Amino acid sequence: MNIVQIFEKFPTQEACIAHLEKARWGDTPRCPYCQSTNTARTPKRHRCYACKTSFSVTVGTIFHHTHMPLQKWFLAISLMLNAKKGLSALQLSRDLQVNKNTAWRIAMQIRKAMTQREQRHLLTGIVEMDETYIGGKPRKGKKYDDPNDRPKPGRGTKKAPVIGAVERSGRVTAKAVDKDKMKGRHLRSFVRDRVDTKQARLMTDEYKGYLDMDKVLPHDVIKHDEWYVSDDIHTNSIEGFWAMLKRGIIGQFHHASRRHLQRYVDEFCFRYNLRKSDPNQAFFGIINLGLGVKG
Ligand SMILES: [Zn+2]
Repeated sequence: MNIVQIFEKFPTQEACIAHLEKARWGDTPRCPYCQSTNTARTPKRHRCYACKTSFSVTVGTIFHHTHMPLQKWFLAISLMLNAKKGLSALQLSRDLQVNKNTAWRIAMQIRKAMTQREQRHLLTGIVEMDETYIGGKPRKGKKYDDPNDRPKPGRGTKKAPVIGAVERSGRVTAKAVDKDKMKGRHLRSFVRDRVDTKQARLMTDEYKGYLDMDKVLPHDVIKHDEWYVSDDIHTNSIEGFWAMLKRGIIGQFHHASRRHLQRYVDEFCFRYNLRKSDPNQAFFGIINLGLGVKG
């Protein structure tokens, strides 16, 4: 769904509610508090005869507790899905004409829905794995009391590490981790969690953390300093994903949002994993995930 289609298909709050109700309940509204279907419509909400409460379709979903029209939610989902390079809260606040905090909260809720989907798929086939470091560049001229505090590129920096794995021309999965969680056993546990070790072959670089990976699954190592580079043994796909993630996260992610890094990572994984599918499927998929309906 692009924004024009949203204006056409969901012109009013009622149209949006009708869609959410159909997606969540089908034809039979169900009380979200006691699961009873003994309910009736009231002019604006539903009434449950079993537990004597009133409820709306958004109770217990990402759309709950918001005074923002649902159409703006739908627009936010569309804008985020189509923003291949990421969308800042500031830009979203301009697009939706809401304040920046509201825009930020909505975007985070939508990322939460995206996260739920990201957690359900084991990678198979040829799987490339790598790590990267995310973090804002220091301000120009910033003085460091301890020269060791100065950020350096690559491993051993103070930036936030992310571990990732991708199926060749398939799906990606990635996890933001603490700086001390980059050892071999952490990397192996990531692989056991996210890769079907019986049906995959792993490719990595020579980082020592990958040394014992062949105890978990078949493992090829790229030797960057050798003159011969095998056509098949490379990590170009995961490096491409890192490039996209880093470009997209600039301007959105900074130290204050370190604890939210995983949400941003999930957003980029989600978009990457649906890059070949029907855009409507992604849009309605997020709505379903946001409602707690299996997407
Ligand atoms: Zn009830």
